[in-house]
Amino acid sequence: MNVTELEMYVKNVLPCVGVNKLRELTRLVYEICKREHVLPQEVLVSSKNLTFESAKKQLLCRRYPINFKTACKNQFYLPKLELTSALPADLTPKPFYPKTVYVETPVKDSALAARARAFFPKAEFKEIEGKMQVGSEDFSKRTETLLIHQEKYDFLKPCPCSCGSAGCGYNLVNLGFGCRFECEYCFLQQYQNLHAVLLPANVDDFLAKIEQGSFRKGPFLRPRIGSGEFTDSLVFDDLTQYSQQIVPFFKKHAQWDFEFKTKSVNIGGLLQVGGCENVVVSWSVNSSKIISEAEHFTPHLTSRLAAACEVAHAGYRLGFHFDPVVIYDGYQQDYSRTVEQMADTLPKDKIAWISVGTLRFSRELKKQIETRFQNNFILDGEFLLDFDGKMRYGEQQRLEAYHFLIPLLRKNFPKAVVYLCMEDPHIAQQF
Ligand code: SF4
Repeated sequence: MNVTELEMYVKNVLPCVGVNKLRELTRLVYEICKREHVLPQEVLVSSKNLTFESAKKQLLCRRYPINFKTACKNQFYLPKLELTSALPADLTPKPFYPKTVYVETPVKDSALAARARAFFPKAEFKEIEGKMQVGSEDFSKRTETLLIHQEKYDFLKPCPCSCGSAGCGYNLVNLGFGCRFECEYCFLQQYQNLHAVLLPANVDDFLAKIEQGSFRKGPFLRPRIGSGEFTDSLVFDDLTQYSQQIVPFFKKHAQWDFEFKTKSVNIGGLLQVGGCENVVVSWSVNSSKIISEAEHFTPHLTSRLAAACEVAHAGYRLGFHFDPVVIYDGYQQDYSRTVEQMADTLPKDKIAWISVGTLRFSRELKKQIETRFQNNFILDGEFLLDFDGKMRYGEQQRLEAYHFLIPLLRKNFPKAVVYLCMEDPHIAQQF
């Protein structure tokens, strides 16, 4: 849909509205047309008595049928519609093969740099002195650049969660930044400002920092430390071979749990190094519709569960993350099927934890998603500005989702800790 034409249409219907009001009405008409697959003429009709107030009211009512009456006015977020602020995502399947590989001088002789040379013989390799502004201008081209670097400062931190949310005491280790999958909801689209894949070569330094660390444990038996925040923990593991150092380290440190969080099936390194009770390999899982329509390039659920069975058989424990749960017509039936498939496939006594969180995103991320994935359906739900400044489904819809999914998971996996991720404390405490 052409934004200028849409604006012109709204301006023709209500010629006297100012810039800000035009912006709000254009956004509402756009979102309704996109969701309902209708033309602007079917959404906003010219009439003698139509005013900005009456037009906005009828559009809000149609765009937010569930929340219109109960939400506060300032919970509706109606920013300027801009569909050209970033390049659309390239959804042509292709292997990860960077055009340029930058290697920082201190790690030029590292095993990771040597493997990168063997993996990508046709790439251009450049040595650089320190971390500099490398990478593509646009996020959609980030996989064209790989940076192998020496991390000096940013090793470990407590998970910042979301401001005011009920935390779970998680601890993050920053092993890598960037991903080659294209999940439409991925926060890296808005968060990552160096448009490249960054992989540290000095894993020993990370492990030394962990050894000196003291960690929160939240409501869990042992502190949990994990690497899947700014990248997928395993998607590059054949190249990085981080698992070859991490697993033996945690075999010696049974006081902590380490979590690899992934959607990939790149488990060769884990199988090679052998299982470990306090290493939890976790998969993000979702309904088949979300996996096939919004998690581009990721393996399907059946493959993820088959990989989970293999690592469990090798001696690892398992985790699962129903995150983000996306609410759409028929979502409960689809998510029930995912739970059923898990229950039919997995060794239940091996599952350590399962988290659940409904889709949420920052205002900036909303704009990135609608620009990079103009045919997305994940933004068609009713999202309101919430307690932490993020956009979430209204409370009634979130509660409905949790009341459906959490008992179902607890019934099927009675030994696993089932918990909510990044939720409002007064909702979290109900579960
Ligand atoms: S797998 Fe994770 S890090 Fe990779 S694109 Fe998807 S959400 Fe982002």
